[in-house]
Amino acid sequence: MDNTTETALIMLPGPVPVAPQVLRAMSKPMINHRGPEFRKLLDESREKLRSVFKTESDVLILNGSGTCAMEAAVGNLGTDKKYIALENGKFGERLKLLTALYGSSTAVIADWGTSIEVEQVKQALETGADAVTLVHNETSTGMTNDVQKIGALCRKQDALLIMDGVSSIGGIQAPIDKWGVDIAFTGSQKCLGLPPGLSMVSVSDRAWDVIKTAERRPYYADLLAYAEAAEKGQTPYTPAVPLFFALEEALKLLEVEGLEARIDRYSVYASSIRTAAHAMGLELFPKLGPSSAYSNTVTAINVPPEMEFAALKEGMHRRGIVIAGGQERLKGHIFRIGNMGNLSKGDILQVVEKLELILLEGGIVDEMGAGTLAADRVLERL
Ligand code: PLP
Repeated sequence: MDNTTETALIMLPGPVPVAPQVLRAMSKPMINHRGPEFRKLLDESREKLRSVFKTESDVLILNGSGTCAMEAAVGNLGTDKKYIALENGKFGERLKLLTALYGSSTAVIADWGTSIEVEQVKQALETGADAVTLVHNETSTGMTNDVQKIGALCRKQDALLIMDGVSSIGGIQAPIDKWGVDIAFTGSQKCLGLPPGLSMVSVSDRAWDVIKTAERRPYYADLLAYAEAAEKGQTPYTPAVPLFFALEEALKLLEVEGLEARIDRYSVYASSIRTAAHAMGLELFPKLGPSSAYSNTVTAINVPPEMEFAALKEGMHRRGIVIAGGQERLKGHIFRIGNMGNLSKGDILQVVEKLELILLEGGIVDEMGAGTLAADRVLERL
C-alpha cells in the first residue's frame, strides 16, 4: 500500500504536524494589518510569547523562517563586532558563517554530536568578545547544549549571548532571562506546532543598547524597525497574516496544555523513542559530555551498519511515516525522529512499531516487540 501522501505522519524535526484548528485558522478572511484587529492579535501574541521565552524582554515576530531570525540576531549588532561562535552541529556552523559575514568571528568547534568544552569557551572569551553564539538544541545532532554555563561565562566577561532556540523554545526548558541570554529566537515550525514562515526573537536591554548604536543594520530584518512598528501594533512590512492567525490559535492550545506540561510531554515522547532505540539495539548518535544532554525534541540515531538509510526511509515512508536523515557530513550516517507538534502517544508508538518491523524484515532485530514494549512503558508515565 502506498500510504505516503495525505495521511503521512510527519516525524521530521520541523515542519511538524499541525493541529486542525491551527490549520483552519489560516483560512480566515484577511484583515487590515494596520487596523485594531491586527494590533490586538500582535499585542496578545507578543505578550504570550514572553511567557514562552520566560523573559521580561521584548519579543518580536518576524516574517521569515528560523534563519531569518539567526541573521537578524547577528546582523543587528552592526558590522564591527567580535564574536565567538560555538559549533557542534550544522546550526552552530550556520551561526559561525553569519558571524563571519557580519563581523569578525573566532570559532570554538567540537565534533558534530559531541559536547562543547566550556574551558575552551572560557579561554576564548578571555581574549575579548562582544558576543557569543550558541545553539541550545542542535537539531542536526539530537543534542542539547548547556546554555546556563555559557551564559555565566558571558556575564563575567561582559559579552552578549545569542541563543538559537529554534528547536527548544516552547519544548525544552529554556529560561532566557535566568540564563542571561540577550538575544534568543525560535521558528514557528517546531515546538510551537505551526507551519513554517514566522520566527520570534527576544532582545534584552543590553542588546538593545548595542543595536541602537549599530552603524548599520539589515533592512528587512531590522529589529529596531520591528520594535518601533510593534509599539503601534504593527510590523514594519506586510505581515504573513494567515500565519499570525495560526499563531494565535497555537498559543491558545499551548496555554490550555500549559508550557510545563508541553515540555514534559515532549520529554516523555523523546525518552520513549530513546528507550525503544536502545531496546532494538540501535545506537544514539550524540556522544554526551559534561555540557550536553540528549534532546527532548529530536532523536538522532545511527543508521545500523547492515542497512542503507534510503531503505530505512523508504520503508517508513511506505508505512506512512516520514523521518529525516542526517545533514551534510551526517548524511547516510544517522536518521532523525522529531517529536514536536500535534502528536499523540499513539503516534509515537506507531513510529516505534514500524521502525521495529523494518529492522525485523532487514534481519537486524530477531524479535518484534521489545522496542515497542519499552516505549509503551515510558509513555505510560503520561
Ligand atoms: N536553528 C536550528 C536549531 C534549526 O533546527 C533550524 C532548522 O531546522 C534553523 C536554525 C533554521 O531554521 P529554518 O530552516 O526555519 O530557516
